[in-house]
Amino acid sequence: MKFSDYPISNLIIEQLESMDFRKPTDIQFKSIKHILEGEDVMAVAQTGTGKTAAFAIPVIDRIEKRKRKGYKGVRCLVMVPTRELAKQIGSVFTEIGKRTSVKSYGLFGGTDQEQQIRTLKNGVDVLVTTPGRMFDLISQGHLDVSQLEVLVLDEADLMLDLGFNKDIKDVMKHIPKNRQTLFFSATISKKIKSLAYDVVRDAIRIQISPKNPVAQNIDHAVAFIQMDDKRFFLENILKEYPENMFIVFARTKVRVERIVAAMERVGVKTEALHGGIEQKDRFAILDRFRAGENRVLITTDVAARGIDIPSMDYVINYDLPDDSENYVHRCGRTGRGNRRGQALSFCSDSEKKLLEDIEEYTGEEIEHYEIDPNDYSEIMKDIEDPTYNWQRLIDQANKERGKDEEW
Ligand code: ADP
Ligand code: MG
Repeated sequence: MKFSDYPISNLIIEQLESMDFRKPTDIQFKSIKHILEGEDVMAVAQTGTGKTAAFAIPVIDRIEKRKRKGYKGVRCLVMVPTRELAKQIGSVFTEIGKRTSVKSYGLFGGTDQEQQIRTLKNGVDVLVTTPGRMFDLISQGHLDVSQLEVLVLDEADLMLDLGFNKDIKDVMKHIPKNRQTLFFSATISKKIKSLAYDVVRDAIRIQISPKNPVAQNIDHAVAFIQMDDKRFFLENILKEYPENMFIVFARTKVRVERIVAAMERVGVKTEALHGGIEQKDRFAILDRFRAGENRVLITTDVAARGIDIPSMDYVINYDLPDDSENYVHRCGRTGRGNRRGQALSFCSDSEKKLLEDIEEYTGEEIEHYEIDPNDYSEIMKDIEDPTYNWQRLIDQANKERGKDEEW
């Protein structure tokens, strides 16, 4: 199947070609045809499998083909859980729709509201924003969704976790009942199912690899490292791979700041990203990271969801997440699209229970690297010493499993 086999506008097909999207991913293949036919869809597919384009392509096609002369109201609303995602997904819509007349806009808080309202007044077809922001705009009378055609909820389960439940339901009251509703998520919990059934009727359900939500093109490994030693191991691996991009997850904001300071002391440049940093700085930090001006981002679970930086080589779980589901979302920051990625977790004695929970949740055992006690003490003694090589260990283990040809 090629994109050109779909009955979609040539303006979209040409743009997809120039973005190097050659053929649809699994989730795109399974959902685009239903969305084009106007059906409601509830889709669950692993991280990094192209869910955004799975809904953006048919939505843009619909809006492009069914022009409504003189109508300037929003025709498609996309709700996302974070501002970072509003920005990112807004730009995916803009890019895919670049050659069409469809206007898309990612709207997020923390920036000039007057400007945002002006943009809305001038006419926006696809609006991407958080439920809270959307509700504010509707209640202030700046956003009219009474003629909405399509409603998309992306990362729907996190929106519920963040307590957006009420906002979503309030927004829903203003939207026509005969709209098309699309649900997309990487994980699905019982809670989200009940919300989903409130808003979508007779939806086509698409679930890809439901048993294991972790993307298949990520290699996972866990190393047993004492809590106080973690920073030396991090230093070691960051120095070992000066060309690679890393996202490092730690448990708290304070720990993130400490890691950044510890890396600075040993001459490794990193940047922190967490909820305690002002929004405009958060965008700037992510932009620098995307542009490759910084290659190591140390963060909390604030960046675990949805963020798409295709060139990410490694995810490091400096601390294991308390919630197993977050393991899946964190690791999903690498191995985007068709690329391979690597996820390495540092597990201290006190985190072994969390590791068990994660393995139970994903249904797969994570490759355990027994670190030779000599190697371990070498790292502790002289962390400049390059004898300790993660890549070599990972390669070796993969070879033993006969997996290396997949790389
Ligand atoms: P998800 O929402 O499933 O986590 P995204 O929609 O963010 O994933 O897409 C992950 C990456 O895959 C992005 O970098 C995107 O540009 C790329 N991608 C999506 N669809 C295709 C395709 N058909 N061909 C090539 N790359 C794709
Ligand atoms: Mg996504």
